[in-house]
Amino acid sequence: MTLTEVTRTAANFDDSWTMTIDGRQVAADTTFPVYNPATGEVIAQAPDATLAQLDDAVAAAARAFVGWSATPIAERQAAVAAIGDRIDEHAEELMALLTGEQGKPRAGAEWEVYGSAIWCREIATQRLEMETLVDDGERRVVTRYTPLGVVGAITPWNFPILLAIWKIAPALVAGNTIVVKPSPFTPLTSLKLAEIVQDLLPPGVFNVVTGGDELGKAISAHPDIAKIAFTGSTETGRHVMASAAATIKRVTLELGGNDPAIVLSDVDPAEVAPKLFWAAFQNNAQFCNASKRLYIHEDVYDAVRDELVAFARTVKVGNGAEADTDLGPIQNAPQFEKVKEFFTDCHAKGHTFALGGEIDESQEGWFVPVTLVDNPPEDSKLVTEEPFGPILPLLKWRDENDVIARANDTIWGLGASVWGRDDKATERIARQIEAGTVWINEVHQYSPHQAFGGHKQSGIGCENSLHGLYEYTNWQTITRDRSNAV
Ligand code: NAD
Repeated sequence: MTLTEVTRTAANFDDSWTMTIDGRQVAADTTFPVYNPATGEVIAQAPDATLAQLDDAVAAAARAFVGWSATPIAERQAAVAAIGDRIDEHAEELMALLTGEQGKPRAGAEWEVYGSAIWCREIATQRLEMETLVDDGERRVVTRYTPLGVVGAITPWNFPILLAIWKIAPALVAGNTIVVKPSPFTPLTSLKLAEIVQDLLPPGVFNVVTGGDELGKAISAHPDIAKIAFTGSTETGRHVMASAAATIKRVTLELGGNDPAIVLSDVDPAEVAPKLFWAAFQNNAQFCNASKRLYIHEDVYDAVRDELVAFARTVKVGNGAEADTDLGPIQNAPQFEKVKEFFTDCHAKGHTFALGGEIDESQEGWFVPVTLVDNPPEDSKLVTEEPFGPILPLLKWRDENDVIARANDTIWGLGASVWGRDDKATERIARQIEAGTVWINEVHQYSPHQAFGGHKQSGIGCENSLHGLYEYTNWQTITRDRSNAV
């Protein structure tokens, strides 16, 4: 079946999946299985790249860098915008793959795939202008921005295509070439993306290799890679940073979070509950920026809890391929085991469940019920760790300074939100939260022009906006003495 035929008939999981190295489709000697998390069935076999194939991809990217970095930025921007248009053309296929390998329902797949296309077109409008600091009779001093070389991008399984695009688009606009390694749990969308856009780029500019964590380690340590753009857990981020130290690679690390949401006493419980629900449970709570600790003022605690429970009962958890599904499964078996530990701990410690609490393991797929835990202790596992699954602690607060201190009492600082009608109070609280993004009366509002990144152990550097674009460049200062002829 040709690529065009595949596109017309949405996704074909039985494709013989190939990597893209130096503009060519390349198979591997061995493969690894890719599962549909809603059924637990193997849906595809992905290539397991050898280290020699990784070397090939890096060498191809290094060769391509010579021409790509010298290509006028307008052409690079046009190519990245064209990738966005190509994603739109293949949206049905990519969404089918995404739901198949990741589990997310149609609405989530649309958000991610069409969002990826928009991101490409918007990042393609960005550029870093040379800055002239001094320009007089005596001297001229300018700062310009030059690409780094080969970028290694390592991505997670929760938003496999969007988080790859967040790296590919700025890396290419800035004049770098890239080798992408998706999560072994969700390799298919990245493999397909590279395949469908190859004719838009010179060979070697955008390569994709697939494999397990060992391949990620080899990328972080590779001597010919200049920068690692990584999204994943804080634990893995530490390893990436340590490996990168050997050759002083640049790193952008987008890591875990334990985002607090602070709900003030002046909210309307019925109005705010659905918004809080989606703040916490979007993408089945497998979201770095999910609200993971819900601090509700004691005056409205019971009312907000009850509204949340009522709303949660209207939400359908199921196979993302079914049209009426709101929330899909846990994406993979190890994550399912990890989420289960939070349930086990809540039971063992005698915490009260406002909703859910029991996992039915007899059903196929890795499903967990939406679970709300009623005011567990502040030092409980559920409050201090990141479940990355649909189990949420509801916590009471009374004193503003105390809730701010509790919100900040974590190694993480990715995001946070504040909910209330009093603009002064919400703003005052927002400014005291140690987090890269603080939303007021909303969550999950992102933009290609809005810097996104973590404070503390949620990461280093940022993605999106000109700040994100700078991270794909070296700055270079050129000074000229005009006072004396030499
Ligand atoms: P993970 O850290 O297990 O894996 C991420 C990627 O790193 C995968 O491609 C994996 O193969 C690779 N990898 C694993 N070990 C490696 C090593 N030693 N060296 C190099 N690469 C290695 O993360 P995950 O489970 O896929 O994703 C979930 C985590 O990602 C959560 O903690 C979540 O909060 C975080 N996340 C953060 C953001 C953000 O923007 N800050 C966004 C999404 C997810």
